[in-house]
Amino acid sequence: MNILKEKILSEGIVLSDQVLKVDAFLNHQIDPQLMKHIGHEFAERFRGQGITKIVTIEASGIAPAVMAGLELGIPVIFARKFQSLTLKNDLLISKVFSFTKQTESTIAISAKHLTASDHVLVIDDFLANGHAAKALIDLISQAGASIAGLGIVIEKSFQDGRALLESEGYRVESLARVGSLADGSVTFID
Ligand code: 5GP
Repeated sequence: MNILKEKILSEGIVLSDQVLKVDAFLNHQIDPQLMKHIGHEFAERFRGQGITKIVTIEASGIAPAVMAGLELGIPVIFARKFQSLTLKNDLLISKVFSFTKQTESTIAISAKHLTASDHVLVIDDFLANGHAAKALIDLISQAGASIAGLGIVIEKSFQDGRALLESEGYRVESLARVGSLADGSVTFID
């Protein structure tokens, strides 16, 4: 997706050979026009597959997921990273190791929003080693729902997430695939 790659090249900041900062358009300030294109692209890739819900994780997955949900005409559920006062009963719960914070946290979705008849598209901002994706898959599986695939805005292809997910049979669609962050610059693989 060229518009996304151009944005990464012009506004992304390489923090290390492992971490890309995109606070200018995805992780802090959000570019709504870019999100609209991203939602459209996810919808094009996953349309016509009987998808009933999108599941993402707060906070940075929400913007691209909502735009994809708008295009596909389906609701978006975001897993919450803590048990809020309003999120108490009938919870689906999983643990996720955070790549950026290097700590483990609990994520939860209320069971009332997902059922065994749902067919789910998982969306997230980044794919690194696949921990967030696996935790979301775990929540969805607890509900007995099926998974159509994963839509990722930025995949760091030099980390293990895609291989892990594909080895378990999941379809992974990434809009930008970063092959390297070495020497302070971003290189794409396709
Ligand atoms: P994973 O669980 O696949 O190891 O990492 C994915 C999660 O960690 C994403 O939800 C994202 O929030 C965060 N993440 C991983 N790598 C990066 C990165 O290079 N930059 C930013 N901003 N977030 C990242």
